[in-house]
Amino acid sequence: MVLKTPGQPLELEERDIPYPMAGQLLLKVKACAVCRTDLHVADGDLRPVCEQIVPGHEIVGEVAAVGGGVEDFEEGQRVGVGWLGFTCGECEFCKRGEENLCDFAKFTGYHIDGGFAEYTVADARYCFHLPDNYTDAAAAPLMCAGLIGYRALKMAGRGRALGIFGFGAAAHIAAQVATHEARNVYAFTRPGDTAAQAFARSVGCTWAGGSDEKPSPLLDAAIIFAPAGELVPVALQSVRKGGVVVCGGIHMSNIPSFQYNILWGERMVRSVANLTRRDAMEFLALAPKVPVRTTVQTFGLDQANGVLSALRAGKLTGAAVLVP
Ligand SMILES: [Zn+2]
Ligand SMILES: [Zn+2]
Repeated sequence: MVLKTPGQPLELEERDIPYPMAGQLLLKVKACAVCRTDLHVADGDLRPVCEQIVPGHEIVGEVAAVGGGVEDFEEGQRVGVGWLGFTCGECEFCKRGEENLCDFAKFTGYHIDGGFAEYTVADARYCFHLPDNYTDAAAAPLMCAGLIGYRALKMAGRGRALGIFGFGAAAHIAAQVATHEARNVYAFTRPGDTAAQAFARSVGCTWAGGSDEKPSPLLDAAIIFAPAGELVPVALQSVRKGGVVVCGGIHMSNIPSFQYNILWGERMVRSVANLTRRDAMEFLALAPKVPVRTTVQTFGLDQANGVLSALRAGKLTGAAVLVP
């Protein structure tokens, strides 16, 4: 499924099976979850960087062929591929261990053809062995919703009372990890979205309500997964002094101006950008211990456009996964 023009539907295209170059793996795609970032790419919220692109960066694939020089993987193994597809290893960020901020990073499904396909190739250095106790479809959302949720949780600090605004794929995983760490999770959804609130409670949230409601304790931290800038001042007003608001998405609508006194008291607003391979290894080791259970809805590859529309409309519960 190829994006040729942002704002237009993806197009089904027949291509030859790609060939793995040195350092690459050829993967037979078993499942690829659909992330809000795919929607931002498809809608053109993110600046197009390629003439055309196959989206999809939550890939579970079986190694079908191994390129020259690859030693960590062999044919038949199951691997995961996420958003981080390449880093330079030489810029100031890479040298500091912050490869998520690499000046020359390339991202799967944005710079590099991704997993909305039957086959794809990936740089083996950015492929990961996956825990066994997940089906292909259940493992797919771990590769971005899980990883970004995990990184956002680390940025939120160790406080016990955690708010999550926007209860989709990333939130439902982050909430389980936070609950496992003995935190109380407060889930904020679109006002009146009782289905999302029930879903939040079903994965262990202490409280679930609309973003126009306020649970009683002030939060130690809040993570915003919804792409809605108006939630930043709302979240700031629900965190205690010294608390942090973490923006977990790659794109957000404009943040309205707000009075300084809601930031005062050493409150912080920060974003989370991409992920490092270390985040991936930590999270993929942690997920089966929690154990994180992903809620997925599966669709055929040719249903990708319908899935993107459903995601745009907020009509999905958990994570949507394309299964070729
Ligand atoms: Zn770099
Ligand atoms: Zn993603």
